[in-house]
Amino acid sequence: MKKVLLFGIFALLLTVLAGCGDILPEDNRPYIVTTTGMITDITKIVGGSFVRVEGLMGPGVDPHLYKASESDVEKLAKADLILYNGLYLEAKLEDVFKQMNEQGTPTVAVTGSIPKEFLLDSPSYEGQYDPHIWFDVELWKYAVQGARDALMKIDQEHELEYTKRADSYMNRLDDLHKAVIDKADDVPLKLRVLVTAHDAFGYFGQSVRIMKLLDYKVFLLSLKQELKTFKMLLT
Ligand SMILES: [Zn+2]
Repeated sequence: MKKVLLFGIFALLLTVLAGCGDILPEDNRPYIVTTTGMITDITKIVGGSFVRVEGLMGPGVDPHLYKASESDVEKLAKADLILYNGLYLEAKLEDVFKQMNEQGTPTVAVTGSIPKEFLLDSPSYEGQYDPHIWFDVELWKYAVQGARDALMKIDQEHELEYTKRADSYMNRLDDLHKAVIDKADDVPLKLRVLVTAHDAFGYFGQSVRIMKLLDYKVFLLSLKQELKTFKMLLT
């Protein structure tokens, strides 16, 4: 009796396992490779369950210095679409992106449609624009549109879904922008001074009207002079 029962369970298990193999569908959804976490987020939000998204850079990774590893190149080679920030943020990946584009993979900078008059000059590289767009929520909406348009181009079937999802996310960004401005308004204008170790906050400073952005390095170099400036600003 016991043997029969065991055999029965074994047979059942085999059937279940075989069934699993049979029903696992091949995942034909577009495979999108993204660079920074911010771009991974917007692609997942706009793409929803219609796409597979893989981000190359985890939290805390510096996009300016990021180099493609062997496994990154493999992912990029398999991608149906590559989404990156552009404006020279991913400086060390630009050549790889160019190569991928030449090989026929659509490679799109999500900041590509921002009108040039909204862009700030890069404080670090002459002749380049400041790439830290995501700190101004209003401007980041262009990146959402960039991701949406790129998705629509490679997957026309779900055009309507991508449009709806992008619209609803941009509404949320409008609310966020208002919340950021409201919070900033708690700080009197003359006290809006930001001291930073990295010149990433130009767009943020502009959007919340920070009067002065002091780069930490500059601040250290000329401590005396900057203290004077501080005192002037705070009185
Ligand atoms: Zn930066």
